[in-house]
Amino acid sequence: MAYETIIGLEVHVELETNSKIFCGCSTSFGADPNTQCCPVCLGLPGSLPKLNTRVIEFAARAGAALNCEISAYSKMDRKHYFYPDMTKAFQTSQYDLPLCKTGHIYLEKYDKKVRINRIHIEEDAGKLLHMEEESSSLIDYNRVGVPLIEIVSEPDMRSPEEAIEYLRQLKSVLEYLEISDCKMEQGSLRCDANISLREVGKKELNAKVELKNINSFKELLKALQKEEKRQLELYEFNESHKVIQETRRWDSAKGRTISMRSKENAHDYRYFPEPDLPGVVMAKEKVDNLLAHLPELPQQKKVRFISEYQLNEVETDILINDRKLSLFFEETASYYPQPKIIANWLLVELMKYLKEDTICFDSLKLKPLYLADMLKMIDDHTISGKIAKQVFEEMVLSGKTPQEIVKESGMVQITDTAELENIVERVLTENSKSVEDYRQGKEQALGFLMGQVMKQTKGKANPQIAKETLLKKL
Ligand SMILES: [Zn+2]
Repeated sequence: MAYETIIGLEVHVELETNSKIFCGCSTSFGADPNTQCCPVCLGLPGSLPKLNTRVIEFAARAGAALNCEISAYSKMDRKHYFYPDMTKAFQTSQYDLPLCKTGHIYLEKYDKKVRINRIHIEEDAGKLLHMEEESSSLIDYNRVGVPLIEIVSEPDMRSPEEAIEYLRQLKSVLEYLEISDCKMEQGSLRCDANISLREVGKKELNAKVELKNINSFKELLKALQKEEKRQLELYEFNESHKVIQETRRWDSAKGRTISMRSKENAHDYRYFPEPDLPGVVMAKEKVDNLLAHLPELPQQKKVRFISEYQLNEVETDILINDRKLSLFFEETASYYPQPKIIANWLLVELMKYLKEDTICFDSLKLKPLYLADMLKMIDDHTISGKIAKQVFEEMVLSGKTPQEIVKESGMVQITDTAELENIVERVLTENSKSVEDYRQGKEQALGFLMGQVMKQTKGKANPQIAKETLLKKL
């Protein structure tokens, strides 16, 4: 029997508004615990919420960019549950009338449209800190009331890789919209994955498992692959009754999913309309205006980069995937109009640092102007391409200008023929054996001698002039 994998994602995104969804408390990350809350977000008796209009605007922008229909009327609802992360014992969310419906993301790589069921707005909950040694827990309510959108996809993905691609594109669009910083490691973008298997050809879905506690792309891929394998084994060994609707936690240290609880259904939450907030009305003109003012989105930028800078598709994909990297590239190209060369330096040299996570774009000290200046220094032979790599590293690490670095470390390339002639003479006298070899037709001896010249000059000799001098003397 053949099985296919069915995956859907629920993505929670913290919106980058200055204040919370129903009160004026700050949303900034990293403040001392419980310093950013008030009677409204704590839900104290007598307090009344007021909906932050920026939240609607940001959420509608996401809907428009993700091809959704934006509801002319939507409303807020109470979702009841009891857990200390929410003092009110309910979360204010949207149930039957969400702000955005029926959108999609097109995955070019798989030539596939992943449908988006809905996008709704809601408030975030507090953060629990479990103190293992003292067998107690602490609560930080700063996060309560931080605005969220939840983007719910249809179960349209058929492999963990497709799910990764969907999330990657979704994150990129949200970054381009500048409505969230999308930092998975800080929890501003969180992803729950629903996964089930079914017999190929069967129409109905089998019981699905919801995976929680995933905080990076790498973990999402691993969690989905592990869960896919677990379910497949149960089906193949006729233990399909053991695949039940439940929530499982991804334990990245153990590399497996662990059952948390049997999955609740919507009716368990006793949703009902929020009586303290009016409905959300979106006039047609407002939606039209929003659509007309969407920023350039990744797919549009891709088309433009390919035609404007004559870059290939692979280069372009990497550049546009990170909005900040694409901006860095464009600014550098405005100072130094050789896009291909810039792309090479960014994708090969800069990626080394970004990939290792030693440096993230926000803390990058390298400036577009510095990179442009450095490339000009290669062109006018002030430094060699080899030295440039050292200068580049120094720029990334220290944030100094290339001029400063070259001046301080004396990296200026030796182009003075007289000086190079002296060095070459010395190398030839010291390596008479290789000279003899070369004269007897051993071509590789030349490479050795060139290496010696480079060694003597600490890599600062202009390779072309050095080679010419060497050949002349030989
Ligand atoms: Zn508050």
